[in-house]
Amino acid sequence: MISVQQAINLVQEHTRTTQKTIWVKIQDALDFVLAEDVISTITMPPFRQSAMDGYALHLHQNNTYKIIGEIQAGDDSQPTLQQGEAVRIFTGAPVPQTANAVIMQEKTSVNDTLLTVTDNPAINTNIRPKGEQIKQGDLALQKGIKLTPAAIGFMASLGITKVAVYKKPKVAVVTTGNELIPPGTPLTYGKIYESNGTMLVSALQKAGFNDVQTVNLADDYLQMVTLIKELSLQFDVILLSGGISVGDYDFVGKAMNELQVQQVFYKVKQKPGKPLYFGKKDQTYFFGLPGNPASTLSCFYSYVIPALERFQGNENGRLPKIEAQATNDFVKKGSRAQFLKATYKNGEVTILEGQASSMLHTFALANALVFIPEEQTTITKKQMVKVICLPV
Ligand code: AMP
Ligand code: MG
Repeated sequence: MISVQQAINLVQEHTRTTQKTIWVKIQDALDFVLAEDVISTITMPPFRQSAMDGYALHLHQNNTYKIIGEIQAGDDSQPTLQQGEAVRIFTGAPVPQTANAVIMQEKTSVNDTLLTVTDNPAINTNIRPKGEQIKQGDLALQKGIKLTPAAIGFMASLGITKVAVYKKPKVAVVTTGNELIPPGTPLTYGKIYESNGTMLVSALQKAGFNDVQTVNLADDYLQMVTLIKELSLQFDVILLSGGISVGDYDFVGKAMNELQVQQVFYKVKQKPGKPLYFGKKDQTYFFGLPGNPASTLSCFYSYVIPALERFQGNENGRLPKIEAQATNDFVKKGSRAQFLKATYKNGEVTILEGQASSMLHTFALANALVFIPEEQTTITKKQMVKVICLPV
């Protein structure tokens, strides 16, 4: 059985960034990854800008100035100031070439056209120089950046309307299990409500992957083979929930063999999620996620997200990891590495009660996972531990 780190490395090694790129409007580009460098076609700010509401001055020794006019944000007037002259000016307005400082209005008093300043400001005070942020032809954003609201705002400020991004993966979510029925129908004996499919779709959406289709399958080998074969022709990534363990009706592994999917690994020395499967065929990646809901989600965060991110050109797709001080003790049983549902706040992390892989309740309250490596057996209160921050 391989270690968590080996599994992470194998996912990294075996996933490739798609060759397909598309042009999208920047308002549709959130969470896409840039497939090309973005070069600024303008200089920003495009002119010397006032950083304050106040007065633009042509400095002289004296503390009094003659006000000769007004410039509002958006105006294109360029009055000429002689030494000792001032114009009323507002934040964002163009500072005339003949002004060499802006004084904030709080430091002035006005009597008709006579302006008195408490002190003469230093040269260039409160003037944003032309090109302070970026110059025409400079690199604005580098290929490989995942576009955040700030990145999109920045591009808008440069007048950019479209960008080249990597296509996002098309993801199929396949749930397996005769026991699963959809919420909204009466619960009959022996059945449970299907939850992994809904949960995975939400987790995908949260990470910005919206091209998703869900299929619910019974534990039927032939049906499974037929369906997965069909899906593998249309989808980039196929997430299979359940049916990957050693039970007589766990058909996912067998179906993968039948379809000649190349197994990259099966089984990881971890809890939850030991029977995790990862394989690929042609351009399609297959994850067999153990069906216990907490295992499914834990594996999704640790292995699926990085693969999806890499597919769309983001090399930094793993969830953020930090160190925090444990507020409680924990004794690990067995030699597998463990991902523990926990709550993180202000540098401290609390391991929650109810770590069984069948329990989603605990996961629903968690905002972090504490990671205990294989070789570690206990966590003692106040000890520094590794914490994976969940997207919340
Ligand atoms: P399996 O991996 O198929 O052996 O399933 C392990 C456990 O997870 C069983 O108790 C299943 O009933 C449960 N399970 C599997 N798939 C789902 C699902 N989609 N929603 C909720 N529970 C599931
Ligand atoms: Mg099952």
